[in-house]
Amino acid sequence: MADTKFIGKRWEEMETDVLVKIFKELNMIQLAPVSRVCRSWRLACSDPFIWNTLDLGLLQSNFIQTRASPYIWVDERSDKRLTRILRVAMALSRGNITSMIFHFNLYMKDDHLSYISEWSPHLRRLVMPAWNRITKVGICQAIRRWENLESLTMPSIAHPPYIMEEISRSCKNFSQLKVMGTFDMHFASAIATNLQKLKVLSLRCSIITKEALLYILNRMDNLEVLNISHCLLLEALATSGRKQVRSELDQSILQKASRIREFFHCQSSSCTTCKRMIEDEGLMRWYRYEDWFWRRDEVSTLDLGDYGKLFGKNCVNSLTA
Ligand SMILES: [Zn+2]
Repeated sequence: MADTKFIGKRWEEMETDVLVKIFKELNMIQLAPVSRVCRSWRLACSDPFIWNTLDLGLLQSNFIQTRASPYIWVDERSDKRLTRILRVAMALSRGNITSMIFHFNLYMKDDHLSYISEWSPHLRRLVMPAWNRITKVGICQAIRRWENLESLTMPSIAHPPYIMEEISRSCKNFSQLKVMGTFDMHFASAIATNLQKLKVLSLRCSIITKEALLYILNRMDNLEVLNISHCLLLEALATSGRKQVRSELDQSILQKASRIREFFHCQSSSCTTCKRMIEDEGLMRWYRYEDWFWRRDEVSTLDLGDYGKLFGKNCVNSLTA
């Protein structure tokens, strides 16, 4: 045996799909030095199989709320950390990310957004963080680059039409929207006017007005899936115009919703999520609850599931250490 020479492949000659399977077990911090070993490893490290989904859902900013616009102060280290993570991710993935997920308590700036849209132009799915520091121009420029965008999850905003108009102009295959927050007539009409091809809409854990819900049901002919689970449904009183919470869906809503292939709703005093909505008076304070809580959705294609290996807890720890 001592005389037998080992005749085998060199590390750099390993089949790419074998390398990719091995590298998929690493997180992005571990991948960075691996990608510098040789050209074939570099190539394997950027494979779409590894980078398909970049889930940064464990990354939050350190912030305090302020009285003046943008109503938030974010510490510089949070911004620098995000810049560093994005640089590593964009350099390694080489445009192969198709799905990006951010924590809603991540306060990115236009610079970050612009950088992502430049280096990941093929996004099909985006779960947006908080809007505060992102300007109208910043988000519209990014959406213009993402012409393959099909699915967007976004915190609710006060003036939604400009985003819906930009999606309508730029993203021809857009079909799935999730709004987290408030859903009123203004929002409903922005969607109905601009996103007629929308197939999936989730408003779970939002405050919605009955008027806005009926507006969507009456006008969105292509809607196949609607989720209003654990929502606070408000109805204006005919006498005073004041809004009161409806404790159950009435026949007019149920009848119109019957044409929708999958209609999810839940208003129950025994449901934990409904109870939390009532305690929070309709504006869910997600940060109070378990880490995974905001990631759930009754619509399977919108549920975010586990964080994955690429940016897991180890990654967060090594960055903050
Ligand atoms: Zn519920």
